Amino acid sequence: MTRHTSATPDGSKAVVEALKEHGQRYYQPDRERLPKHVGDLVYTNPFAFLVGAAFDRGLPWKSAWEIPYRIDQRGMLDPFKLASSSEARLKRLLESLPVRPRYGGGARTLKEAAALVVKHGGNAAAIWEGVSPTQASRRLRSIHGVGPGIASMAVRLLHDDWGMFKGQEREIDVKPDVHVMRVFKRAGLASSESEGAAVEAAQRLNPDYPAQLDWPAWNIGQEWCRPTAPDCPGCPLTNLCPKLTG
Ligand code: SF4
Repeated sequence: MTRHTSATPDGSKAVVEALKEHGQRYYQPDRERLPKHVGDLVYTNPFAFLVGAAFDRGLPWKSAWEIPYRIDQRGMLDPFKLASSSEARLKRLLESLPVRPRYGGGARTLKEAAALVVKHGGNAAAIWEGVSPTQASRRLRSIHGVGPGIASMAVRLLHDDWGMFKGQEREIDVKPDVHVMRVFKRAGLASSESEGAAVEAAQRLNPDYPAQLDWPAWNIGQEWCRPTAPDCPGCPLTNLCPKLTG
């Protein structure tokens, strides 16, 4: 294999193919990587999935997905109950949990997620069933605190793990979190370590399914391409990556 010293088009194409191969070989649905009691809930209860996704920001991802499980243990994982509760009550509920949302505004996020489900007849799956990824993303972004990145992540998970949006993969973007942005920049796929550059690079380099690059880049960022002292010798991209770490 050739080692490139700059981000050539051919080099980027080779990195993209290596990322896709890494994803195909090692991707596991979150259900298999979460504690069983959490995975069983969020992968059988669409409202639990929605709540976990909405809180997956600013704290370890497994902790975020545990929040709906903890709410369920309090007997409150019911969109009608939550939507009709005051934000003050929901704030007290969240503050009483052993795992809590990182950022303020969690009560509003929870209330608005519940209200969106109520608006869809009490069935969270109705938010994304029968609509395009773009429409589903727009609906998810109507919830306080759910930005484009979280919405893209949820839509990608609904595709990969729930079998939604088949044939509409072109509309599903990467979630440009810190790991994805870092790997894209260092591997020469994106011109800068920014959300916009990462989303644009994935759309340009893998237009049939941009989000296919999401998990493998995230995994490589977590396991090898750390912010300092990246483990380039052990990295699956080492023979292809220009290692633009400066
Ligand atoms: S760890 Fe090294 S080889 Fe792997 S993506 Fe990062 S800079 Fe490239």
